[in-house]
Amino acid sequence: MKLIHDVAAMQQTMLQLKREGRRIAFVPTMGFLHEGHASLMREGRQRGDILVLSIFVNPAQFGPHEDLERYPRNLEGDCALAEGCGVDIVFAPRAAGMYPPGFQTSVALGPLTEPLCGASRPGHFNGVAVVVTKLFGIVQPDVALFGRKDYQQLAIIRQMTCDLNLPVEIVGMPIVREPDGLARSSRNSYLTAEQRQQALCLYRALQAVRELFAQGEDTIERLLAAARTQIEAVPAAAIEYLELRDNTTLQPVDRATNKTLLALAVKIGTTRLIDNTVLGEAL
Ligand code: AMP
Repeated sequence: MKLIHDVAAMQQTMLQLKREGRRIAFVPTMGFLHEGHASLMREGRQRGDILVLSIFVNPAQFGPHEDLERYPRNLEGDCALAEGCGVDIVFAPRAAGMYPPGFQTSVALGPLTEPLCGASRPGHFNGVAVVVTKLFGIVQPDVALFGRKDYQQLAIIRQMTCDLNLPVEIVGMPIVREPDGLARSSRNSYLTAEQRQQALCLYRALQAVRELFAQGEDTIERLLAAARTQIEAVPAAAIEYLELRDNTTLQPVDRATNKTLLALAVKIGTTRLIDNTVLGEAL
């Protein structure tokens, strides 16, 4: 497995592999890898001749008061996990290499960015769109894999890839959870043992809504109230958003259906956690 930090060297390496006719599978991440990332890498291994993993804590997608500085990092551990998943090349650029002096281009996104995380993290998806576009230009993947854990991000990347005719197949992968239901996340490492237990309220909220919906309830307010009850049972938990929306347009819906997305962001202490489920799909 190769580890490449330099942007130009990476692009040259990838151009050469493309000239040789290799099919490139790509998994972009911010590192501090866990089973969620591993599931993407294993699927990527099946889908390409060359598997590329990027590790980049992208400053452009963090707000001024967010956790950029303390975001967990462990390049050595990540490389060991990546090698075990069959990664051929780890691309770990430096921020100065990705955003040299004079960098000024952005990607204008549409209504998909407005609700949910877009509303609570202004500029976040623009930072994501820029870095993903740059990474696609450097890595030149045939297929790129993203997790449904970041549901809105996946929707925006699908839309952007289609709208801009980027020649990349986008694959969305199921959410990987801990045995007790907590969605895997690099940010779970911020939680104390007590907060780790409190964080289960997100999963309980998803379950409560799914159960009520399975019993025939389709009224938005009643379904959301069931979720809210689960979160409010934990005094340390603060809801940032809790919404039911169309799973494709992310627009509000009058009644819940199999295609309705339940998405939530909850703060446990200072740690912001997100989770989601589509009511008609497996949890
Ligand atoms: P991150 O390193 O958090 O930016 O995540 C990199 C990729 O891994 C994104 O496409 C995420 O959606 C995906 N991912 C993160 N956590 C999970 C998870 N628990 N299950 C599935 N995919 C995940």
